[in-house]
Amino acid sequence: MIFPSHTRTRILCAWVLWLAMLGLVTVFMHVLRRDIGQAHVVLIYLLLVLGASISGGRPFGFVIAGVGSLSIDYFFQQPFDTLTIGKPLDGLVLIAFLATAVVATQIMALAHAEAERATAHALEVERLSAEAQHAGALREANKLKDVLLASVSHDLRTPLTTIKALAQDIASGAEGAAENGAVIVTQAERLGRIVGSLLDLSRLNSESFPLSVEVNTAEDLVGAAVQQFTGVEGASRRLRTVIDYSQPALVGRFDFVQSLRILTNLIDNALRYSPPETPVNITVQSREGMLGFEVADRGVGIPPSERIRIFEPFYRPVGSRPDGGNAGLGLSISRRLAEAQGGTVTYQDGAHGGSTFALWLPAAEGDM
Ligand code: ADP
Repeated sequence: MIFPSHTRTRILCAWVLWLAMLGLVTVFMHVLRRDIGQAHVVLIYLLLVLGASISGGRPFGFVIAGVGSLSIDYFFQQPFDTLTIGKPLDGLVLIAFLATAVVATQIMALAHAEAERATAHALEVERLSAEAQHAGALREANKLKDVLLASVSHDLRTPLTTIKALAQDIASGAEGAAENGAVIVTQAERLGRIVGSLLDLSRLNSESFPLSVEVNTAEDLVGAAVQQFTGVEGASRRLRTVIDYSQPALVGRFDFVQSLRILTNLIDNALRYSPPETPVNITVQSREGMLGFEVADRGVGIPPSERIRIFEPFYRPVGSRPDGGNAGLGLSISRRLAEAQGGTVTYQDGAHGGSTFALWLPAAEGDM
């Protein structure tokens, strides 16, 4: 058997140690040989054989047993200092010593091998279960990827089908080319939005989304968000902002453009998912070092079972209105954009029914 060099050194040290012990014990007993009996000598050598075979296995046990029996005969059996056997009983003692030592060594070696087998088995079981766990996680990730791909293909195919049909109409010289052209533009823009959102999502996932975090006021952000809805039917009547001007300005550290995108998305959802003419309230509060921009509507709210899933890409609750031009990416991108700035987006039931979504961003007290 070829051992690596550090194992070879360890084995060599063990040999030196046990042979030195054997020498020492022999010298010690030799000094006292007139006072101790053969039984003591045999028992002490047996102890050495046991110790050596535990530490180094069969070779150690056999060598110490062999040297020990020679030493018993030479030093401790009369006539001293010769290898002759004086009495038949002495021969029997030697044979009994050798037999006990060999059997003990064999038992030790077997127990040792059994323990090693059990350890190897436990390690193998551990390795196999880790592999099974890894395979399970991979399967789960693959399933998720398939679901995501199916959603993406569905969301991309719908506008593409419309564009293709209308373009075929135009090509065949059918009437209404101008209207068809306008629908194609709308659908192409929608496609562009979905592809843009997908790119954002992948950049947010790989943490390579460029952000420009600066000190901004909450008031500016809310003002800019409301501004985005100028001209949107009914929005100016429905949107109500509550900002307490008697308090010092609320300031935060965030990327203005991306936070505007998040807040606009929350307001857009609130307007779309609540009945026309019901109010959508926008308030700002400061709590525990964070600014909370709350958007509360009077819609149907979100059932508890869906509250985590609506933040997943492409997820739309069962029975929600078909499509409407959105791909279910808004909330997932919003939350990840907020998280990339040290904030988050949360949901809670509205005080007057409906949903309250909140964008949380780090506050910057004393910076302005
Ligand atoms: P999208 O609006 O494009 O479907 P979002 O990610 O913005 O995607 O929203 C995911 C889902 O969460 C929506 O399909 C809708 O069912 C639900 N949702 C979002 N905002 C509201 C809201 N204010 N009230 C009720 N449901 C909402």
